[in-house]
Amino acid sequence: MSVYIVTRRGFVLGGLASGALLSGLPGVAEASSAAGPPIIDCDGWGARPNSRIVNVVNDRPVKILVHHTATANVEDYGRGAAEGLARAIQNFHMDRRGWIDSGQHFTISRGGFVLEGRRRSLEALRSGRKQVEGAHCTGQNLVSIGIENEGTYTDTGPPGALWDRLREMCAYVCGQYGIRPGEIFGHRDFKDTLCPGDVLYGMLPRLRGEVGDLLGKRVEGSSLRAASWPLLREGGPGTSSRGPVVLAAQHLLRAAGALDLTVDGDFGPAMTHAVRRFQAEHATEEVNGIIGGESWPLLVRPPPGADDEVARAVYALVDGSSTRAPSVLDEGVWRELLTHAASS
Ligand SMILES: [Zn+2]
Repeated sequence: MSVYIVTRRGFVLGGLASGALLSGLPGVAEASSAAGPPIIDCDGWGARPNSRIVNVVNDRPVKILVHHTATANVEDYGRGAAEGLARAIQNFHMDRRGWIDSGQHFTISRGGFVLEGRRRSLEALRSGRKQVEGAHCTGQNLVSIGIENEGTYTDTGPPGALWDRLREMCAYVCGQYGIRPGEIFGHRDFKDTLCPGDVLYGMLPRLRGEVGDLLGKRVEGSSLRAASWPLLREGGPGTSSRGPVVLAAQHLLRAAGALDLTVDGDFGPAMTHAVRRFQAEHATEEVNGIIGGESWPLLVRPPPGADDEVARAVYALVDGSSTRAPSVLDEGVWRELLTHAASS
């Protein structure tokens, strides 16, 4: 068990060998008072120069977004592997995506090395008052810190070294910017994506709680669980591919014009097709047949004249009980109905 001394601006960690392991290496910040975990800056891992000026704003971010890199779950936990990953991501983002630099603010390797992503992210974090505009989640890039975690966490969880550094890093970011631990989200909360994987996403309540503990602020009950949308997809596990939430989605797709879609509560190829068509019509970022944080808010705003299908969607979620059906349907009510049905 590590010992943490909480200060106003962050925390000091003691009793962790990894801090001592990293300090003294070139390009690695010392884990000193209120400095958070050691972070390898861009020069430390040999980043290319950014191609255009990085936008720095005089505003604090208000949330953290957790991502996974969707790369292999490598067994090489060394610093060389971590630096290679940071360079590979930067090359991909600059050369293939055409971005000015890495999209994320920070990267954590499976071995627990924390690296700066986009240039000036570390300087902004140290200031506690500035934010670098990232490119990790459209619509969230000026208000959130994006942390990429190396690996693919759809079926398995992250190694202990990565997890420890993720919670330390989140605690440091929360402390620096005054972000509440309940404001830690997954990429899928805002987009139609599997990121950060079912397993790591499922660990976010635990992360919020542990970050709260590191900050000396107990996070309990509903604050552990961020308001979110259930992620649906063909062939997904549990309620993500069948059941009342899928039924409701099918009614809402029909309300949006997919009249040929059969309502059977089973997310099959025909439904994937209908979702893709819906996404294309609404110009979502991804046209991938997955219903997540971008498509749900659009689906629950059906066009006028679709009241019957909307009513059927609601009944599917309240188990046919008219007494449990809400009288007002706004986005928040829908989200509550859907998450409740998905978890029961
Ligand atoms: Zn992501």
